[in-house]
Amino acid sequence: MTRHFNFCSGPAMLPTAVLERAQHEMLDYQSKGLSVMEMSHRSSDFMAIAERAEADLRELLAVPDNYSVLFMQGGATMQFAGVPLNLLGKGGTGNYLDTGIWSQKAIREAEHLGGAHVAASASDNRYTAAPSPSELSLSANAAYLHYCENETIGGLQMDYTPEVEVPLVCDMSSSILSKPIDISRYGVIYAGAQKNIGPAGIVIVIVRNDLLEQACPEAPTLLKWKAFADNGSMLNTPATYAWYLSGLVFDWLKAQGGVEAMAQVNARKASKLYGAIDASSFYSNPIAPANRSQMNVPFVLADESLNSVFLEKAEVAGLLNLKGHRSVGGMRASIYNAMPEAGVDHLIDFMRDFEQRHG
Ligand SMILES: *Cc1c(COP(=O)(O)O)cnc(C)c1O
Repeated sequence: MTRHFNFCSGPAMLPTAVLERAQHEMLDYQSKGLSVMEMSHRSSDFMAIAERAEADLRELLAVPDNYSVLFMQGGATMQFAGVPLNLLGKGGTGNYLDTGIWSQKAIREAEHLGGAHVAASASDNRYTAAPSPSELSLSANAAYLHYCENETIGGLQMDYTPEVEVPLVCDMSSSILSKPIDISRYGVIYAGAQKNIGPAGIVIVIVRNDLLEQACPEAPTLLKWKAFADNGSMLNTPATYAWYLSGLVFDWLKAQGGVEAMAQVNARKASKLYGAIDASSFYSNPIAPANRSQMNVPFVLADESLNSVFLEKAEVAGLLNLKGHRSVGGMRASIYNAMPEAGVDHLIDFMRDFEQRHG
């Protein structure tokens, strides 16, 4: 058996140790005689798994007690609707930063469900740099400011946390758990699991408890954060196996030294890869250095006609899923927590070798 280095943006690589443990526990979870997949979500065994996962996530991110941690479904995309439906109960609009494709999807959904005021957009520089704090023109009566911390497709990451009077709402799908964050600066953080948490099927919502009271009454129950908070995220059957696997990832992260330790490795991985790109005239990345994503590194080849041979040879070398998003073209290496530093080293060696042969 060989496990290759998988640079997919999501569903993404999981730590091998996590998959091995899941495999070991697959048929017979801790001598209970059944798989976690086959357990009632209300059984004491599953409740213990669920509670431990939440406690470990709270510990990893130092989530203050006045925040609820929700395990929901529908992905981050469902929360594009969840945000206005939960925060605009009395009508009104939200402020939005537009830093790329995921921001725009959130904006479009809010436009359907209340309103979105675009406070600043990176469109002026073709999404190569985040708007600076002085460029934000906030609508005075908007109920919150939404932004995407890391644009997974464009590879643009925010280099500051906006400071605003209204609650800050952040899509952290592709950067949560990659570094420490000060949760108390946020009203709401949400993140789809399949990038840096676990397998697909879960979206985690971290919400300050005072914001649970302003949902639109007509919102579907399964989108109401308060209903999830009041019912331990077990309003209906949750994605039990994805919840369990996410818990195994949290356990693994703690054993690695937590998010502080991950942040150091992640910074090293990203700086090596951008360094290799910048040192060559064969590869390039257009993003302003301060806004280069630590998690998703898009790059293009000077000669685009070599794209398919690059991808073919990479696959043979055990480097999978480097094809860039169709809207950007070229390549993208997603290097989340589970990507070992050796995977990035291997990619850089491959890129140098490919350049020597084809450059
Ligand atoms: C992947 C992604 C999403 C969408 O996630 P789904 O779980 O597929 O809905 C939203 N925002 C960001 C930043 C993402 O990376």
